[in-house]
Amino acid sequence: MSRRVRCRKNSLAPARVALAAACLVALGCGSDGGAGPAGGVTFLQIEREAYLLVGVGEGTALRVTAFDAAGEVVNEADLTWTVDDPSIARVEASGVRVTGLAEGATRIRVSSGSANASASVEVYVDPNTGPFEPGIVYYGRRDYAEYEPGDLPLILSAPHGGYLLPDEVPERTFGVTAQDRRTQELTRELADAIEVRTGRRPYVIISRLHRRKLDPNREIVEAAQGDPFAEQAWREFQGFIDEASAAVEAEFEKGLYIDMHGHGHPIDRVELGYRLTSSDLEVPDAFLDQGGRVEKSSVRQLAADVNVSFAELIRGPSSLGGLLEARGYRSVPSPSDPDPGGNPYFTGGYNTERHGSRAGGGVSGVQFEHQFDGLRETPETRAAYVAELVEVLEAFLLTHYGYDWTAGG
Ligand SMILES: [Zn+2]
Repeated sequence: MSRRVRCRKNSLAPARVALAAACLVALGCGSDGGAGPAGGVTFLQIEREAYLLVGVGEGTALRVTAFDAAGEVVNEADLTWTVDDPSIARVEASGVRVTGLAEGATRIRVSSGSANASASVEVYVDPNTGPFEPGIVYYGRRDYAEYEPGDLPLILSAPHGGYLLPDEVPERTFGVTAQDRRTQELTRELADAIEVRTGRRPYVIISRLHRRKLDPNREIVEAAQGDPFAEQAWREFQGFIDEASAAVEAEFEKGLYIDMHGHGHPIDRVELGYRLTSSDLEVPDAFLDQGGRVEKSSVRQLAADVNVSFAELIRGPSSLGGLLEARGYRSVPSPSDPDPGGNPYFTGGYNTERHGSRAGGGVSGVQFEHQFDGLRETPETRAAYVAELVEVLEAFLLTHYGYDWTAGG
């Protein structure tokens, strides 16, 4: 297919206007909108090397820039598009859009005279349309995101414990890229220990991509940094947690979401993030439920349901921190460490905000940040910690949810 693309800002005829609009997208016309330099096209650049279309019929804009021998943008060019396998994807005659026709992969090619460029196109059909059943593990595209539905009102996610470093996903260039070592293992082992205890399993969502490739505990821009494959993995990871939350609400009305992390802060203690800052926590118990703290916390709904004070819920003896502390695992907030005391502290990130109950819903969320030493480092330390954490969660669910997971059914 071939089409003459022109920029004619002053043209008033409808057909010409449409062409001008297409040109702006396709060629990045100069601000004068007039005819380009007389030089011919010697180099073509497609904006992306790879396009991912999720679902047959989905399409995305194509942007191509043409350059002359002097490296100047050419505002006017004859572009010819071809598709290696036209059964997989179609490029519109104007060259401004590619649309998926069938699942598979192909290349699209554009040429102008002797200049040419190409890009890969993958049409991916998401197989995970539900219903999702316990006992089956579901994977997103190329296994970057993993979801195991459970049958307890408990959801675990591990966003920073992945190992995969596929070439197709570029390295992230801003934000934190360090892996939370062994948190994927810790999360899986916790789920296994809960099953040993109860005969049932929590919902588990794992990001298997290394954090250098994706940070699914950030909004999508920082998380995936514009890469379509990373963006897809982000949507899958987040969508799996959304799915788990909906399932828990449908089955149990309310539940607990835990986002599992590892920190490298100077003090070895478990940092529990409820979306409350250090200064939020630096008030006496009697004032903790004031100043909008309950309303902005990730356990807002749970706080409304329980019979204890907000201070008791998040740092009293029956809180997660209190229960951990009683078993020898120093934590903050807790009865002994009611606030971070001016030391570094993670308040809970994107996932805790999004999947907790601040904005409503029956699932309340907490971010667990674990130090490495004594908790994550070896199978033995993890097993010892997990054995205690199972008891902590059991007590917390019983006290604050009225849910006895040892009762069965
Ligand atoms: Zn983390």
